[in-house]
Amino acid sequence: MKVLLLGGTGEARSLAAAFAAEPDLQVVSSLAGRITDARLPVGEVRQGGFGGTDGLVDWLRDNSVDAVVDATHPFAATMTEHAVAAAREVGVPLLILRRPGWTAVAGDLWHWVDTPSEAAGLLPSVGTRAFLTIGRQGLAAFEQSGVWMLARCVEPPEPVPTWCELILDRGPYDVYGELALMRQYQIDVLVTKDSGGEQTAAKLIAARELGVPVVVIRRPPLPAGVEAVDSVDRVVEWVRARR
Ligand code: NAP
Repeated sequence: MKVLLLGGTGEARSLAAAFAAEPDLQVVSSLAGRITDARLPVGEVRQGGFGGTDGLVDWLRDNSVDAVVDATHPFAATMTEHAVAAAREVGVPLLILRRPGWTAVAGDLWHWVDTPSEAAGLLPSVGTRAFLTIGRQGLAAFEQSGVWMLARCVEPPEPVPTWCELILDRGPYDVYGELALMRQYQIDVLVTKDSGGEQTAAKLIAARELGVPVVVIRRPPLPAGVEAVDSVDRVVEWVRARR
């Protein structure tokens, strides 16, 4: 059985490792190829876009793929949309691995919004010194918000913004470090996507401890009618059931 594993996440790397122990299973992990020095999964890896849905349809056919697992980031909505459409066209089963989103607990001051633009519009009423942890995509929406900003990205945005302070770093982060950073820059509002997962959750605990409000950008919805699970183990079960 041959599986295309759409990755770019820690879960996808865990899945590739779990699949490596499965007999009679050939797995090709796919990365967008935009991060220099990306953490590579074990096993076979291809990098770069497929060329839209049509390109992915061709790739699935040319490589005789039997199943697709989409373990991309919850905000990688375009890749997911293309994967769902291509798998339907080729007639191969597709499963989405979507880690659970974050939920507020007592002491959290969260404001939910739908888009980076909505977050930017809300900022001046919530704080004066913002910490943007939304990656480099969507950053431009904050340029005119009139609030001092610190942005943290894995890779430098292009062009490099001159309207905010920029730090380049990559998780996992711990609460101690997040508290120190937010204190150092006197952050009074945090902006995040609802990425979910453990690797970047420390900032939320730090914000709670400091009484800092958080603007949380909602996830894009999954395409209608798709099968989705929330753990690596359940993906492995799904693949085993198809062998
Ligand atoms: P996106 O907007 O959904 O995808 C844009 C295009 O990038 C896709 O149409 C596809 O190009 C290519 N692409 C994306 N993921 C790919 C993959 N795994 N393999 C091959 N091509 C891929 O995605 P994005 O938000 O830019 O994210 C890019 C990658 O970074 C994803 O793999 C995702 O898992 C990872 N990531 C994203 C975020 C985030 O916040 N968005 C955070 C952490 C990691 P073609 O149309 O040419 O096929």
